[in-house]
Amino acid sequence: MTDSPRRAINFNAGPAALPLEALERAQRELCDFAGTGMSIMEHSHRGKAYEAVHHEAMDLIRRVLGVPDDYDVLLLQGGARQQFAMVPMNLLSPGASADYLVTGTWAKQALAEARLIGTARAAANTEHDGRFTRIPDTLDLDPSAAYVHLTSNNTLFGTQWASYPDTGAVPLVADMTSDLASRPIDVSRFGLIYAGAQKNVGPAGVTVVIVQKSLVEAGRDDIPEVFRYRSFAKTDSLWNTPPCFAIYMLRNTLAVLEARGGVEAMAAAAERKSSRLYALIDAHPDFFRCPVEPASRSRMNVVWRLPTEELEQRFLAEASARSMVGLKGHRSVGGLRASLYDFVEEAWVDALAELMDELRRAHG
Ligand SMILES: *Cc1c(COP(=O)(O)O)cnc(C)c1O
Repeated sequence: MTDSPRRAINFNAGPAALPLEALERAQRELCDFAGTGMSIMEHSHRGKAYEAVHHEAMDLIRRVLGVPDDYDVLLLQGGARQQFAMVPMNLLSPGASADYLVTGTWAKQALAEARLIGTARAAANTEHDGRFTRIPDTLDLDPSAAYVHLTSNNTLFGTQWASYPDTGAVPLVADMTSDLASRPIDVSRFGLIYAGAQKNVGPAGVTVVIVQKSLVEAGRDDIPEVFRYRSFAKTDSLWNTPPCFAIYMLRNTLAVLEARGGVEAMAAAAERKSSRLYALIDAHPDFFRCPVEPASRSRMNVVWRLPTEELEQRFLAEASARSMVGLKGHRSVGGLRASLYDFVEEAWVDALAELMDELRRAHG
């Protein structure tokens, strides 16, 4: 019998749960990677051992997400928030304007960064009373915009675009940090997709960018080289030292994702996991309340409130006693939140639903 480690029931919003197989593979390979007598962290990023891992990670992204040949896959540092700046630095020329669909805190920050670089406007804004509880149904798009930027899943507020708007010839740019690889997407509908890896596909430290080659080519070159997509596109993301270990873990994680049936299987599981919680919440409106409009609800981050903050505290204490972590809502929003990313197991969600229902029966 093998000794399996005690694992928390992890609902963290990010960094988040990783598959045990990916961690155990790292453990096995840590001190002696592929018989080289070194860990992958000690290898040169110009050497054969690391380059194989690097290209395997990029190939996995292409396969898992179905990335067409006329797109570059880039592995960058600086997190998703660096992309809030890099997108306008590369794609927003003087005299041009960009459209932003403001559906949450991250989108708001992306717009503010773009305004430091050039002209950008909110083509939709669903904020009311400092909250965001829905995805807009009407957009005021500028047909001559340099690009349209949206946040596919609003991690803090628990809303998600169920389908993406048609932006015609204007490139669509999406921050998919909290739902990349959670459902099939048609990459050809996007000009650029970016995601910090630490929510759904790996550890913090590497950011995945998928970008149409023509946009990279047309990108500005009056910006520092370290912020140009072109620098990384023309060097297979080996322009400077990449975050080797984070990319290694991204490789391990995506290999598990692929072996478990890829994005179709992830989407089906996300549907089952989130429906389980929403059904419970909606069945007892006197005890649970989800502030998000049903059509805008996220399959990744489920947010809800209980009748009093005292009951929410009691819920968190009981969750903690059962090894469940990460259920407190974002500090700016309050309430409760369960993040149901790809490697949050269905049995964990069953345990969470049981706890929620027990508390309701005791205090409802
Ligand atoms: C977490 C998150 C970010 C911030 O990511 P960093 O990698 O920490 O910069 C940006 N956008 C979304 C949608 C997020 O969920």
